[in-house]
Amino acid sequence: MHSPIQLPDTWQTLLSQTLESPEALLRYLRLPDSLLAGANRASLEFAMRIPRPWLDRIEKGNPDDPLLRQVLPLAEELDEVPGFTRDPLEESHSNPVDGLIHKYNGRVLVILTGACAINCRYCFRRHFPYAENRLGPQQWQNILDYITADPSITEVIFSGGDPLVSSDSRLNQLITDLEQIPHLARLRIHSRLPVVLPQRITESFVNVLKQTRLKVVTVIHSNHPQELDIHVAAAVQRLTQAGITVLNQAVLLRGINDSVTTLKTLSEQLFAIGVLPYYLFTFDPVKGAAHFDLPDDEARQLMRQLQDQLPGYLVPRLAREIPGRGSKTLLFTDQE
Ligand code: SF4
Repeated sequence: MHSPIQLPDTWQTLLSQTLESPEALLRYLRLPDSLLAGANRASLEFAMRIPRPWLDRIEKGNPDDPLLRQVLPLAEELDEVPGFTRDPLEESHSNPVDGLIHKYNGRVLVILTGACAINCRYCFRRHFPYAENRLGPQQWQNILDYITADPSITEVIFSGGDPLVSSDSRLNQLITDLEQIPHLARLRIHSRLPVVLPQRITESFVNVLKQTRLKVVTVIHSNHPQELDIHVAAAVQRLTQAGITVLNQAVLLRGINDSVTTLKTLSEQLFAIGVLPYYLFTFDPVKGAAHFDLPDDEARQLMRQLQDQLPGYLVPRLAREIPGRGSKTLLFTDQE
């Protein structure tokens, strides 16, 4: 008798099977039970969510694994730390229409969904009022009207949550609507899925991007070289072969990538798979994640060392987003 043919999991299947129980996580990774009480309490504030392809890259038995540290809820998250707030970037001040954030000249951010494939503990939108920013048909029409009325807007950024948890048909419809606005030239997609669930970058998704008249830029989000496996490389290759620019933004996080060796390897490995290191953001002071913070002086020191060891095109720009400013603020320049 023939055994049934095993088909690979689709991205939708993988997305529906995320791990959400701290207890199951600790058991699977053979981690100490002493972490459980804190993890359970912290996950009530911000749920734990880990997709299987990410879990597969975590070293078992290592509580300091850099991929684990990004997703494991910790008791420290419940500490009240002065200066760490629910809306560190004051995005609620730049939210003229539900689902749209207009902070910078020429570009607007559209929050397609509040859902992500992974919940990163340091996320500056961990308290974002997604429920008030639901993108129903009326909200979408309001967004289209807002963009149409402002010819200075030439770029739309799909953000979230993670915009790529949306189906191809939904993305196709949204992009088709945007294309009708003559002054739009570019579509940028900010997504962690090419890294955390690279199976999402299917041929049919790439075809959606290939068909649009808009120039497409994808900004992926990887913080540590251990995140980059062969599946990520294949996903990036599908994008770059379709002529899509792929950039990376990372967040500088204490205990995860605050070493020159890690940052250097990240840049080199990103470039090896076809991604240019773009930004290295300093951590945004969001409530519940103060333990990831790193002083600016330490960040600058790391950049100096990185610049000594890498060609300029592999050195990401160290930047911070300061509420109310018209662009990102660079914290390190070549002259330093
Ligand atoms: S994928 Fe992005 S938006 Fe989602 S939790 Fe992580 S950092 Fe936040």
